[in-house]
Amino acid sequence: MTGVSAEDGLPLPGAGLSAEGGTCAETLARLAALLDHAMAEPDADALRAHIEGCDPCTEAADAEEAVRALIRRACLESAPETLRVRILSQLIVRRL
Ligand SMILES: [Zn+2]
Repeated sequence: MTGVSAEDGLPLPGAGLSAEGGTCAETLARLAALLDHAMAEPDADALRAHIEGCDPCTEAADAEEAVRALIRRACLESAPETLRVRILSQLIVRRL
């Protein structure tokens, strides 16, 4: 490969820089980590501050949280105690 690439280090067009929490693109990229509580407090605070003051990011965070709540509920409902007991007893029967 020859030739000069100008791809690195270009600022994103239209990325609104705000004082706290970085750009919307950065906020959305780190949204999953924030909701997973996989982010250190000062960063998480800055991110929440951006989300609170930014309508598109608030909507994105709400949607992401709604999806997560649905998945959590679906997981809880799809593994009832009776199913676990049935699987366990089948495993035991196979071993005998
Ligand atoms: Zn934003």
